[in-house]
Amino acid sequence: MNSLYQNFRNIEPYVPGEQPQYSDRIKLNTNENPYPPSPEVKKVLESYDADNLKLYPDPEATALKETLAEHYGFEKEQIFVGVGSDDVLAMCFMSFFNSGKPILFPDISYSFYPVWANLFNIKYETPKLNDNFEIVKEDYYKENGGIVFPNPNAPTGVELPLSEIEEIIKHNQNSVVIVDEAYIDFGGTTALSLVNKYENLVVVQTFSKSRSLAGLRVGFAVANKQLISVMNAVKNSYNSYTLNSLSINAAAAAVKDDKYFKDTVNKIIITRENAKKDLHNLGFEFNDSKSNFIFAKHKTVKAKDIFEALKEKHIFVRYFNMPRIDNYLRITIGTDEEMKALIDFLKDYLSDKC
Ligand code: PMP
Repeated sequence: MNSLYQNFRNIEPYVPGEQPQYSDRIKLNTNENPYPPSPEVKKVLESYDADNLKLYPDPEATALKETLAEHYGFEKEQIFVGVGSDDVLAMCFMSFFNSGKPILFPDISYSFYPVWANLFNIKYETPKLNDNFEIVKEDYYKENGGIVFPNPNAPTGVELPLSEIEEIIKHNQNSVVIVDEAYIDFGGTTALSLVNKYENLVVVQTFSKSRSLAGLRVGFAVANKQLISVMNAVKNSYNSYTLNSLSINAAAAAVKDDKYFKDTVNKIIITRENAKKDLHNLGFEFNDSKSNFIFAKHKTVKAKDIFEALKEKHIFVRYFNMPRIDNYLRITIGTDEEMKALIDFLKDYLSDKC
C-alpha cells in the first residue's frame, strides 16, 4: 500500500437512517417527531438578528443551561449541553471510559455505541438481552470500565424499571453509568430523580424526539457537578463553541413551552396505542413500547419483504440486518393520517400473503 495511506484511520462508521427526498414520502424510519416544534421556537427563529452571527456564541450556553436547570430542578453546573445527544454521548465516552477495562452495553442497543468505542479505542462487551429483549441487570454486576444503555432501549422500545436501573448504579459505584433517555418522554420513568443520590450516574436526553427539534441538533446531560466539569474540560479541549446562538435560544424557548411539549407527546402516545391495536390485529408481535416507535415482527411474513414493499410505496420504516433482529421492523409513530396510510397498505399487502 502507498505509504501515504497506511496510517489513515480505518473505521466502520455509524449509518444513519435514510432521508428520502420524495414529496409523497411517509417517513417512519428515524424516530423524528411528526409535529412541528413549538410556536415559541418559531418566534425565536423569526426574530433572530443575523448580525449576531458576527460574534462567537456563549461557549457556556448559559441561557439554555439555566432554563434546563430551572425546568428539571438542578443547578446550572449540573447540566452539559451538546450538538444533539450523539455529541453529548460521545463526550461521555471520552470523559469517563478511560480505565482500560471493557465497558458494557446490551447486544441489541443503539448502534452508535460500538462505533464510538472503536473510535476512542475503548474495549467493550455486550451482554445479551433476554429472549423478551429485556436487559438482565445482573449481567452488569461484573467488573467494567463503565456502562451505557438507552432507556427505553433502542431499537426495541422496552423500558427497564427505575428500580432495576438503581440496582445497576448501586452495584457499580466505581464506574460511570450513562442512561441514554432519548425516548423517555413518551411514557417512561426518567432516572433524573437518582442524579443527586448517586455520584456515578449521567442521564442524557435530547431535543430531537419529544421536542421536535432533530434538525436543530441539541442534547444535554445531567449529573453531579464533578462529572459535568470533566465533560466541560473534555469539550473545551476539542471544540469550545459547540452550540450556536440560534440553537441556544430556540432550544430554551422549546423547554419553556411546557404545554405544547405535553400536548405533542400525548398526541403521539395516543397514536402509538392505537397503532399497537391495529398492528396486533394484522398479525404483528411486539413488546410494550414506551417510546415513539414500535419494534415489531410479523407472525408469518418476513420483515425484509414488508420493508421492501413499504419502500416501494414510499413508506419508510427501519430494518436492521443484524443478528437476532433481522426479522423485525422499527416503525416510528407518525401522525394519525400517516399511521392510517401505513395500516391501510399493510392490510392490503398482508391479505395477499397470509
Ligand atoms: N440515543 C439513542 C438511543 C438514539 O436512538 C438516538 C437517535 N439516533 C440518539 C441517542 C441521538 O439522537 P440526537 O443526536 O438526535 O439527540
